[in-house]
Amino acid sequence: MSDIATRCWWLSEALAHPEFRGEPAPPLLGDTAADVVVVGGGYTGLWAAWQLRQLEPGIDVVVLERDECGFGPSGRNGGFINGFYDHAATLVDLFGRDGAVKVIEAGARTIDELEAWMTVHGVDAWFRREGYIGLASSPAQAGGWVEPLEVARELGIEDRYRVLDREALGAFVRSPVFEGGHHVDDGGTVQPARLARGLRRVAMEHGIRVHEHTPVTRLEPGRHGGMGPVEAVTPRGTVRAKHAVLAINAWAGGTKRFGSRIVPRASYIAITAPVPDRLADIGWTSGVSIYDYRSALRYLRTTPDGRIAMGVGGERGTWNGKVDDRFDFDERGTQHAVDAIHRFFPGFRDVPIEARWGGPIDVTSSHQPFTGTFAGDRIHYALGYTGNGVGPSHLMGKILAARILGRETDDTRLPLVDYEPRRFPPQPFRSLGAAIVNAATVRRDDALDATGRVDPVTDQLARMPRRMGYHLGP
Ligand SMILES: Cc1cc2nc3c(=O)[nH]c(=O)nc-3n(C[C@H](O)[C@H](O)[C@H](O)COP(=O)(O)OP(=O)(O)OC[C@H]3O[C@@H](n4cnc5c(N)ncnc54)[C@H](O)[C@@H]3O)c2cc1C
Repeated sequence: MSDIATRCWWLSEALAHPEFRGEPAPPLLGDTAADVVVVGGGYTGLWAAWQLRQLEPGIDVVVLERDECGFGPSGRNGGFINGFYDHAATLVDLFGRDGAVKVIEAGARTIDELEAWMTVHGVDAWFRREGYIGLASSPAQAGGWVEPLEVARELGIEDRYRVLDREALGAFVRSPVFEGGHHVDDGGTVQPARLARGLRRVAMEHGIRVHEHTPVTRLEPGRHGGMGPVEAVTPRGTVRAKHAVLAINAWAGGTKRFGSRIVPRASYIAITAPVPDRLADIGWTSGVSIYDYRSALRYLRTTPDGRIAMGVGGERGTWNGKVDDRFDFDERGTQHAVDAIHRFFPGFRDVPIEARWGGPIDVTSSHQPFTGTFAGDRIHYALGYTGNGVGPSHLMGKILAARILGRETDDTRLPLVDYEPRRFPPQPFRSLGAAIVNAATVRRDDALDATGRVDPVTDQLARMPRRMGYHLGP
């Protein structure tokens, strides 16, 4: 098993079960033809393949994955399925009121559809739909619920939200540092690797051809003025197809076409040993998931056997925009997650940390995913989830499939389609800027949490992306 499958608790848990281990999917050896070739075997690629077979059962789809399906962020993430509710303000800015409502409604439908799909196909991914809480974990964060509520009112979706004072919050979870927050009732959690590997199993059972350990080294749009097939070239064979789907998430940050739209940043997770009694002590016995109002995201949830999984976002990047092994694990990054568990829940200081791992996030300047087509209508892509891809990748899979088959649906008319987030500055300013701003954002969060104050230089640096018109940072 690869390092990440051993390191990431979700993956090792899932792979211990034959239904999630699944049948082997050997590397591509030799050339082949297909109707559609999908590059990348995470949620986006597998959902696109699945939706294609749903819409047109005879269609021949080949998925090429450089590692194993779900070994990227799809099998390693926090498992939150939150739709777009907390992105409402940004969506209004980008697409206006109506556009924002349509995206939020599509996100909500996705949660229903995911739940139904898991039931129909017998994929037990520990789905719980008990909503999520945004909260203040220091006095400086208090009031973080005001803006989400105001925007929700503007959009007429405030019935989904409930403000929680300290006492009301205590009915969900108790911590000496929690100050109050807001609950959104429409959200869920999954065991992310079970979902990714369940999707792989179901896709293969339905005739989708999957080749793992098969990196695509070149994607050629097609000879003869674009009229010929798209060619996905791999070390030991080529797939020729009418259409290609590019579903490579943060790995697109290292490509010429998407390098200026995506900056890969790491997110790291730590998970405790099972301690259901300690969870009962802090009153966290429901399936509600949590994030706090820091600018650099921190998120936490529980598991059915009584663990806390805590994640931190906005961690390291790379100088060339390429994903490397340091995204899989970083001692310091994962320690930030452990420290946060201990600060929130001092009674957990002696609870063993059972695993730590990480993965790359494909950050866009708007914090929103985008999908489109190039090379005529030959190559279709969806990426840029910026850490919110578990639900939205299902929506993108539907859009990709419909567009490939030339069908227009409510989903293909969403404003996320053919939208391009604003470019980041060119290199080396992009990576340098991202590193400086990121470090300032974390310093600002830490200073505000500790003292309620921040020095003006750090504050200005952290606020720079907003001042430049990006929807990132404080
Ligand atoms: C630590 C962490 C926590 C997260 N938490 C959450 C969360 O709680 N909720 C949420 O909604 N989102 C979360 N996310 C984001 C979420 O995991 C992603 O948005 C989602 O998995 C994207 O799916 P994908 O299929 O587009 O990408 P991926 O899962 O990254 O799949 C892309 C695949 O492409 C493959 N690939 C790359 N290059 C090539 C190539 N040249 N040839 C062939 N294959 C290639 C990769 O190996 C990979 O398997 C988190 C991400 C991380 C890293």
